[in-house]
Amino acid sequence: MRKILIAGNWKMNKTPKETVEFINAIKGRINREDLEVVMFPPFLSLTSALEAIEDTNLFIGAQNMYYEDNGAYTGEISPKMLTEIGIKYVIIGHSERRSIFKETNEMVNLKLLKALEHNITPIVCVGESLKQREELVTIDFIRMQIKIAFKNVPREDVKKVVVAYEPLWAIGTGRNASKTTAEEVCKAIRGLIADLYDEDTSESVRILYGGSVKSSNVKEYFSQPNIDGGIIGGASLNEDFINIVNFDI
Ligand code: PGA
Repeated sequence: MRKILIAGNWKMNKTPKETVEFINAIKGRINREDLEVVMFPPFLSLTSALEAIEDTNLFIGAQNMYYEDNGAYTGEISPKMLTEIGIKYVIIGHSERRSIFKETNEMVNLKLLKALEHNITPIVCVGESLKQREELVTIDFIRMQIKIAFKNVPREDVKKVVVAYEPLWAIGTGRNASKTTAEEVCKAIRGLIADLYDEDTSESVRILYGGSVKSSNVKEYFSQPNIDGGIIGGASLNEDFINIVNFDI
């Protein structure tokens, strides 16, 4: 059984002080033992967040990292730094990193390998643009993203990877993918992983959907056979996150 993972991607929101206030406001109201709930504050708020979640069943992850442990990479944060403070999850290749900060598929692959080396659970994001969807190349494009992301990842490590399907046209737009579209692509992603490895391996990988998820639509996604949770952006910043996490199964 794949445990449902709910990832709150805060993006560039909440200062350390706001982080603590928010976590204190919600922590007693999230009591799900059956889910893995991980919040992803900005780097500067990670330490405060880790302190604030002590004695709860919540987890904290990073929104990005670099693929070297140290060196002349001005402005970057390494996996070694993250593990030292106790971070166990990282989002890799979010579409905003890819489009605004020009991250390539090759960088995503190096980051994925590095996260695994440091025992950090990577959540690798893939997804097509509106133009690609209209041109009917969604699956071809995602196949290429998956193939490069998993290059040199050994079979025994694949189950530690989480994949997130995040269609670009659904992120922050309020225009969420229908449950049928989301399930169709998540199922195809599982098939692509089976082609690269084998069926048992692909069945062990958690695949999330992300893009305008909120409490009013969360249940329809999580009831799909190939959707094992979600990345929540905008709705993870306010009290709706509590309703999302407390969705009734
Ligand atoms: P959204 O963002 O929920 O605000 O659409 C999702 C994401 O970017 O991961």
